[in-house]
Amino acid sequence: MYIGGEWREAVSGRRFEVTNPATGEVIATVPDAGREDARAAIEAAHAAFGEWSSLPAHVRARYMRRLYDLIVQNVDRLARVLTEENGKPLAEAKGEVFNGAEYLNWYAEETRRIYGETIPSSSRRTRIWVLRQPVGVVGAITPWNFPSSMVTRKIAPALAAGCTVVLKPAEQTPLSALLIAELIHEAGLPAGVVNVVTTLDPAAVGQEFLENRLVRKISFTGSTEVGKHLMQGAAAQMKRVSMELGGNAPFIVFEDADLDAAVQGVVISKFRNAGQTCICANRIYVQESIAPAFTERLVEAVRGLRVGHGLEEGINVGPLIDEAAYVKVEGHVSDARGKGARVLTGGHRLTGPGFDRGFFYAPTLLDQVSDEMRIVHEETFGPVAPILTFRTEEEVIRRANDTNYGLAAYIFTRNLGRTVRVSEALEYGMVAVNDSLLAVPQAPFGGVKESGLGREGGHHGLDDYLEYKYLSVVLD
Ligand code: ADP
Repeated sequence: MYIGGEWREAVSGRRFEVTNPATGEVIATVPDAGREDARAAIEAAHAAFGEWSSLPAHVRARYMRRLYDLIVQNVDRLARVLTEENGKPLAEAKGEVFNGAEYLNWYAEETRRIYGETIPSSSRRTRIWVLRQPVGVVGAITPWNFPSSMVTRKIAPALAAGCTVVLKPAEQTPLSALLIAELIHEAGLPAGVVNVVTTLDPAAVGQEFLENRLVRKISFTGSTEVGKHLMQGAAAQMKRVSMELGGNAPFIVFEDADLDAAVQGVVISKFRNAGQTCICANRIYVQESIAPAFTERLVEAVRGLRVGHGLEEGINVGPLIDEAAYVKVEGHVSDARGKGARVLTGGHRLTGPGFDRGFFYAPTLLDQVSDEMRIVHEETFGPVAPILTFRTEEEVIRRANDTNYGLAAYIFTRNLGRTVRVSEALEYGMVAVNDSLLAVPQAPFGGVKESGLGREGGHHGLDDYLEYKYLSVVLD
């Protein structure tokens, strides 16, 4: 682990195994931190905070750019490790590393623009100034589905704001975070500014983040269930929270859409990362009149996807992350089947030659899907696309909003009025129109309802790491 600028084992001496989900092979062992290790990391971050937060913005920016350069120079190494621990195809892994690095570049530039305000006061002798100051030590918790970009997406705005960080990556994918820590060391960031603790007991480390008064903010990406637990825990000390949680994205194809573009959109949105992203299309709503034509083209596109080891050339879909993921996907498909859905392609696990002991699931399309099926209400997190049909705009808006989630929604249409009406009516933090990729450093990524709080990306994302301080000055 990387604590206070040094490489350390857990105090207990324990380690845990990291496995490749494509083969079931153990690829590394890493330290298994307990609360005492988390405490040491928090203390290191606290010790570094005063100096880091008072550095001139352009100096902080220089460190961040150095880290950006190192990540880009090491993209092949980072991408390979990412594919080995997560399973995603190498090309996707590279894309993730580059995308994640861009957050460092963008926030390095934004560091210079953390402006305060001067506000007209109520008397001649008084001045009102508003300062912007970093919140302090941040406890960051990241998931396994983007082991690299989730790390940079959190540390970039935190470092830009002047915060210091203790990062706890997911137990399935700690290697990308440790490699980034190596590059942080090489970039010469002062000791303690970023610390990484790996653990098989996230609840223990999480509890230390919640109870330790030196941690002023929790930034979490993961399940809504764990997010709620952390938010409840954060309430005891009124810690700031940022939460990027689950989603149940509707993908709406209107009859005036460019069908080929919509098919391509579903393929990207649904099957990227084997369907394991929080913004993956979860429900495909197709207007009745075009449903047969659209479905036919989508079946063909999905049948063309190649499943296999991410390190092999030409693979589009890798394995699921673990057995639990497979059980959930299989559960959704068998529930839908039992309630009358039809499997158009896929619908089963892939085994046999080439699939080893990995958790490979065939890219799957279902139709005759109805609203009472689990797949419509829960996040599937796997390569399964359920097709539902609708008649009118009003109807599809109502059904799309009928969920407790509110992260991303997708619409495909060429009608401008409809674009505006539907985008405004959808209760989601992000709406992609004729587009299937979201998440760029300059835009505010995040959700409403039970999908989360706060935004990552853009100047909005910096706000999450800054406090206002109101200064009232009476002139003598
Ligand atoms: P998923 O179901 O996608 O694995 P989780 O919410 O369980 O989502 O995991 C996301 C991150 O939250 C991981 O880093 C995981 O270790 C961490 N985590 C899980 N449980 C807790 C907890 N009780 N306290 C703090 N972090 C947790």
